[in-house]
Amino acid sequence: MSSQLITNCVRSGIESDLQHGSVIPPLYLSANYAFEEIGKKREYDYTRSGNPTRNLLAETLSQLEGGKGAVVTSSGLSSVTLLLQLLRQGDLVVAPHDCYGGTWRLLNALSQKEQIKVIFVNQNNLEELKKVLELKPKQVWIETPSNPLLRIVDIEKVCELAHQVSAQVIVDNTFLSPILQSPLKLGADFVLHSTTKYLNGHSDVVGGCVIANSNKDFESLSWWANASGLTGAPFDSWLTLRGLRTLEVRIKRQQESAFKVAEFLSEQKKVKNVFYPGLSTHEGHHIAKNQQKGFGAMLSFELSGGICAVKNFVANLKCFSLAESLGGIESLVAHPATMTHASMTEEARKTAGIQDGLLRLSIGIEEKEDLLCDIKNALAQI
Ligand SMILES: *Cc1c(COP(=O)(O)O)cnc(C)c1O
Repeated sequence: MSSQLITNCVRSGIESDLQHGSVIPPLYLSANYAFEEIGKKREYDYTRSGNPTRNLLAETLSQLEGGKGAVVTSSGLSSVTLLLQLLRQGDLVVAPHDCYGGTWRLLNALSQKEQIKVIFVNQNNLEELKKVLELKPKQVWIETPSNPLLRIVDIEKVCELAHQVSAQVIVDNTFLSPILQSPLKLGADFVLHSTTKYLNGHSDVVGGCVIANSNKDFESLSWWANASGLTGAPFDSWLTLRGLRTLEVRIKRQQESAFKVAEFLSEQKKVKNVFYPGLSTHEGHHIAKNQQKGFGAMLSFELSGGICAVKNFVANLKCFSLAESLGGIESLVAHPATMTHASMTEEARKTAGIQDGLLRLSIGIEEKEDLLCDIKNALAQI
């Protein structure tokens, strides 16, 4: 991430108001815009199709990811829905076996209705991936690092293989943000975000976006977003742009604390495994080091004492809220087996490596000594 891009993000739309010279760009809530005369519309006519506040956010996001254009949607999952609008009936989609639960549910339901075909694969198994690519999928979806075990997928490698069979590649970049990973530069055709997470960063908006690497794809996305009514609300866009200005400052601090927490946990007797790509013992460490500009602020770990230890540990935490979602200024703890991944069967969870003793942390911007102290105390109570 160049320093110029960060400055542009901080200053996006600042002092652009010609009417009053407001420093912060105004919020345009209006649903509609008056025509100048019959047959002559202004830049905007109706907010589902286009809105100055939402467009400013979209331009800022596109610049950050280095794309040709972005579409801002009402949630991360409506961004997934938008990308699926590009498919024809019966087209094949290849997705990671450990993708976000909501994405998995949608792909699975659409394939059961025979609208599309879906194959879930372990993208670290290149032989398995190559076999599936022979079936000529139209889209290959990547999520790296994955949830909740932070598995790393080699984006450049998967893009190269997918492009050989003319499939388009979509990378869900929610876990790292454009500050720490630039999938379009590694060959991806689209980047998707749940802006609910790091980009807004304050846990007070649900939103999403898709950034395209070509003008043609951007035009199709914009057309479908309007035609399907998936675009995001102006107030949400305004809040997200406000959050986005501090993204770099937040994520750098969160990542620094996450590293310390991961190191601390890996030294504890009551902790069986720590999953954080920044640790040299993590299986994806080398790929992460190459393709990311940092290891991020998400980690998970397994307590040796199973579900009993989990209950005691969580009950004694004071600086971590037991909640789903991630990427906000507040630290969170989640128990995948009973929360984010509860809809999976026990067997499927075990196969995916999600044990009952597993906890996931989203590290916030609190003082890191307080976070470490809190974890230390809670571990002592197990
Ligand atoms: C949260 C999340 C989504 C879905 O986003 P919503 O804003 O909740 O609809 C998709 N992918 C990942 C990786 C997520 O964490």
